[in-house]
Amino acid sequence: MTEIDTATLQRLDAAHHLHPFNDNAALAKRGTRILTRGEGCYVWDAEGNQLLDAFAGLWCVNIGYGRRELGEAASRQMTQLAYYNSFFQCTTEPTVRLSAKLAELTPHDLNHAFFTNSGSEANDTILRLVRHFWAVQDQPEKNIFIGRHDGYHGSTVAGASLGGMKGMHKQGGLPIPGIVHIDPPYWFGDGGDMDEEAYGRHCAKRLEDKILELGPERVAAFIGEPVMGAIGVYIPPRNYWQEIERICRKYDVLLVADEVITGFGRTGEWFASQTFDFRPDVMTLAKGITSGYIPLGAVMFNDRVADVLSGRGGELAHGYTYSGHPVCAAVALENIRILQEEHIVETCRNNIGPYLGEKWKALAGHPLVGEARFLGMVGALELVPSKPSRTYFPDRGRVGQLCRDFALQNGLILRATNDAMLLSPPLVISRSQVDELAEKTWKALDMTAHALGMAQG
Ligand SMILES: *Cc1c(COP(=O)(O)O)cnc(C)c1O
Repeated sequence: MTEIDTATLQRLDAAHHLHPFNDNAALAKRGTRILTRGEGCYVWDAEGNQLLDAFAGLWCVNIGYGRRELGEAASRQMTQLAYYNSFFQCTTEPTVRLSAKLAELTPHDLNHAFFTNSGSEANDTILRLVRHFWAVQDQPEKNIFIGRHDGYHGSTVAGASLGGMKGMHKQGGLPIPGIVHIDPPYWFGDGGDMDEEAYGRHCAKRLEDKILELGPERVAAFIGEPVMGAIGVYIPPRNYWQEIERICRKYDVLLVADEVITGFGRTGEWFASQTFDFRPDVMTLAKGITSGYIPLGAVMFNDRVADVLSGRGGELAHGYTYSGHPVCAAVALENIRILQEEHIVETCRNNIGPYLGEKWKALAGHPLVGEARFLGMVGALELVPSKPSRTYFPDRGRVGQLCRDFALQNGLILRATNDAMLLSPPLVISRSQVDELAEKTWKALDMTAHALGMAQG
């Protein structure tokens, strides 16, 4: 392969490649950053800049970059049997082994896996199969899904509808019928003077109110991210999910935990439903399932749902050509082997997570930071014009973007949503890398404050 210079790649990219979630005209003017290599917690771009990736790609590179074992697992499987489907009463060994492994890893009786290529497809699958679950039990009118405003459940038609991103709903005429939303727990913007417990109960009651308004006989399921990621790492009150579960049980509404971000160690346990101690009936998985090395999503169903789907549910009229792709399954198994054998989740919970949390929360001392949120290995800084008030900058998003660009200049990748800086590093980050991350974040905050004519830290 001949080398192509960066300018040529940028020109071709601008001419031929529509980027997701981007203003493509602005991007073409600025020129795409082209990433060329990754190792551990670092990536390198075509200019040769070394960047500490405090966002794990897109919440997904949990075991870090450059693990050859995953490439070798893919290569072995491709050589032996590159593809076979799971239709027509067939399957492959890695697919079977992965479903058994996921049944073992996920809590309580989430014992049944359906495979997809992505988190979005997994949520589309849930919409159809949960409605089918009620329909074959002679309750076809029990078909409404309740999601949350500002939630993110993917970009397909059902995924974006289940999510509550207004900007997404505007494009393409969403949400589709039968999906409604309630307000999420977001203490910084909405908590007022309530303490954590009162606020948790207050937010969960929104679900009960909505169920009663619609009629429990019409509500199929509630879906939520245990920690809301894309909107800005909203960490709910401790009691929120247990209250949500109690309400779902009371009205026989299925509880769906979208653990696409929170699964595979992100909150310091294998799954956030363990961190918050609740029992979902259905769970969405993707991202960390392969640490992003290859596309894969899965839906985990509990025994009750699976018994109905595989009993009187009849033939499942749903599936993807690549459902249970053997290469993806082999890579997922290798990823999970590494997470388990290297005790990565336990190390996050007991050692590196608390250390990262201490450093991250100390950033709340910066004049620009109104709140530092943190749980397990995920967090956010809410940037504010003045402390201690919980206020926002006018023209939301501009200051976050500024801070993101300064971080990049310092060799650090953080994501900005509105004016919150989001943190989700590879789970294998070391103490010295945490120190580097904290230092570079403080410096980016200083540069942002300086650019705004505010006091520096
Ligand atoms: C990323 C994400 C999805 C969508 O997954 P894709 O693989 O991008 O389709 C769904 N839910 C949550 C919570 C996510 O963060």
